[in-house]
Amino acid sequence: MARHTHNSVYGYFTHGEVLKKSKCKSCVSTLTGKHGKNLKRHLSNHIELYQEMQLKNVEKKKSAATKKMSILEGHEKLFQLNPDIKVKIGMKTIINAYVELVTVNGRPYTMLNDTGLRKIIDPVLKGINKKKCINSNSIKKYVCEESISIKRKHKCRSSNKSQTCFFET
Ligand SMILES: [Zn+2]
Repeated sequence: MARHTHNSVYGYFTHGEVLKKSKCKSCVSTLTGKHGKNLKRHLSNHIELYQEMQLKNVEKKKSAATKKMSILEGHEKLFQLNPDIKVKIGMKTIINAYVELVTVNGRPYTMLNDTGLRKIIDPVLKGINKKKCINSNSIKKYVCEESISIKRKHKCRSSNKSQTCFFET
């Protein structure tokens, strides 16, 4: 059925589903079935209509082609769909990004286990060739240890000061 919409010749006939016949809109002729080739052969009797139909078909093909191209091109432009890319990224950057997600961005730790994220991060980890496991647990542990060490540093610094600052913890 879909291919019929690409062929303008069907617009010049009416089709009877019961008798399986096609009736020419411009004359009294009735044709058996609705084969594009037969209809075209008949329409060539009405030379003006035939030429018009051919022109319409060319236009349809053209617009279908540009439509297909423009969607593809649009996606390529939007995502820059190069087949493969090399990126410069290290373990530290990844961990920092994960920490930022759960601290600055306020995302839940469970998000780090999401399959969508894993699909991006796993090939990267493979590229770095580290068998480190980065997931919600390891990042939680990392953030916890980091905050303890920051607090410890802070305590050292404030104890060096002669006066205690109550606003700092
Ligand atoms: Zn006719």
